[in-house]
Amino acid sequence: GFKCGIVGLPNVGKSTLFNALTQTAAAQAANYPFCTIEPNVGDVAVPDPRIEILARIAGSKEIIPTRLTFVDIAGLVRGASKGEGLGNQFLANIRECDAIAHVVRCFEDDDVTHVEGKIAPVNDIETVETELMLADLDSLEKRVIALEKKAKGADKEAKETLDLVQRCLVLLREGRPARLVETKPEERKLFAGLGLLSSKPVLYVCNVEESSAASGNSFSRAVEARAAEEGAAAVTVSAKIEAEIAVLPEEERKDYLEAVGLAEPGLNRVIRAGYDLLHLITYFTVGPKEARAWTIEAGTRAPQAAGVIHTDFEKGFIRSETIAYADYVANDGEAGAREAGKFRLEGKDYVVGDGDVLHFRFAN
Ligand code: GDP
Repeated sequence: GFKCGIVGLPNVGKSTLFNALTQTAAAQAANYPFCTIEPNVGDVAVPDPRIEILARIAGSKEIIPTRLTFVDIAGLVRGASKGEGLGNQFLANIRECDAIAHVVRCFEDDDVTHVEGKIAPVNDIETVETELMLADLDSLEKRVIALEKKAKGADKEAKETLDLVQRCLVLLREGRPARLVETKPEERKLFAGLGLLSSKPVLYVCNVEESSAASGNSFSRAVEARAAEEGAAAVTVSAKIEAEIAVLPEEERKDYLEAVGLAEPGLNRVIRAGYDLLHLITYFTVGPKEARAWTIEAGTRAPQAAGVIHTDFEKGFIRSETIAYADYVANDGEAGAREAGKFRLEGKDYVVGDGDVLHFRFAN
């Protein structure tokens, strides 16, 4: 599955947020089983109101949402790239993640020490990003000598890699993250293979005080402006409120949310933003037994989408019976959609759409 690593300086609210994420999932009905793989790894249900609607139409007994994995990565301090704190472990943990949720402290509280002495979220972002960029610089500089040797011969891949590495180095030396490097489509795989920490997509999570949960504050707005500049995403939450909501019984949540001026838990926005950041979309399988959501990357074709359910589905793929979500709902289910001519048979080149209701035909 896809993994989103939660990073940030100490005392910004990472653990509070992570615990809220995992407790919410645990507190939900049996339909939303939660599993902890390791203490700092949590599989979280991706909130999607469409699945409830599909289940109602089809009379499905069970609802199974799709999931996103969050990893609480502790140990980032200034100097992590040089092995300070839990430096190396920390960097290795980030390397394994597909995206980064970067929690920034946007709340003032004299009782909670700020490691850098004052609340300055944009500076904090720079401190964290500097560590990631320094680690990348270090790893690329180590590789470049061997690559140069190889590229002198006829090694085409070494030449291409060297070219890409040198462009990354130019950016990193200017203090800019590797994710800003322009890559040609044929270079994307090489680029991903470099495993650069500053190449991962970033979502800033602004942790504000309770009174600013709905409105944000001047700190969170500064972070949003920064995110817009660098093509990153940003969401504002109050980790404290989220922690409180997480342990409330379902029936009390609505009142609580209303009281603090929120339409839904902020965590839902964090999860969905993480999902979008990874360019993930959802398709559904719907029947009387269950309505289930599945995660794929945008642009995935039908056989590979089927492979998410089972490798046999991909190997023996014949076709995909397809109804767009809106057509399924507008025609009150599969029978109606068939009558309305909205039921399509799609082959192996079909690019699955977000919300598609699919049934795969395959041969063993
Ligand atoms: P981490 O080191 O980033 O994992 O931070 P924690 O989640 O352990 O939080 C550090 C301290 O800040 C704890 O005492 C939290 O209760 C407190 N804290 C976290 N979020 C908030 C918040 O939104 N407002 C206030 N006032 N305190 C918070």
